[in-house]
Amino acid sequence: MEELDLLFQLQCLDLTLEANEKKLREINSPPPSAKIASEKLSEFQSKEKEFKELKREIKDRELEIESISQKVKKLKTELYSGKSGVKELMDKQAELEALAKNQKKMEDILLELLEKAEVLEIETQKAKQELDLAEKERDADLILKAKEKEEVEREIEKLKGEREEKVRLLPSDLLNTYERLRRTMMGKAVVEVKKDKCGGCQIQIANRKLSEIKKRNSIITCENCGRILYWKE
Ligand SMILES: [Zn+2]
Repeated sequence: MEELDLLFQLQCLDLTLEANEKKLREINSPPPSAKIASEKLSEFQSKEKEFKELKREIKDRELEIESISQKVKKLKTELYSGKSGVKELMDKQAELEALAKNQKKMEDILLELLEKAEVLEIETQKAKQELDLAEKERDADLILKAKEKEEVEREIEKLKGEREEKVRLLPSDLLNTYERLRRTMMGKAVVEVKKDKCGGCQIQIANRKLSEIKKRNSIITCENCGRILYWKE
């Protein structure tokens, strides 16, 4: 029965088609390198932000120190102008000392910030290099995936065409039975009989039924699992 051969071939096509569709779904999902690249991007962005904030803080401190320096300068001019009285001189002297103390404190803080900035700058550069590398790897993966996708899609189109040809040659009731079995039997609707057993559920087939199957002139199903039994000549 040529129909059985056709049906078996159709099933082979359908299984290959399913495998290719699964492959396509995998190709369409983002590669692991995309996740890594996105992690590297946020790492870099957070370092960069931290570095920018630190630079702003340094700038503020520098301005503060500059402003103190100006005050010191002004005070010193006043102090040495000889115009002030004793009380005023003493006040100014005290103020000068306080300012100098404050300036020293500020400069110490600034020094610490500058050291921190130096480290952070290196870390930011490193994060950028890692990001560039991760993005390069991701892009290479995406190019590869696009190529694979094209190939698999072409294969699927070809298989679908071949499927259409087989379907056209099969009676619709047999096709309906096949489709129903395919859904319930995880794609395996037609099974080969091997060593007198059903290729699906492995049950032993009775001799009389076996000889009917071997005649290949009617559709015979397994009494246990319901699959169509196929004897390959
Ligand atoms: Zn069976």
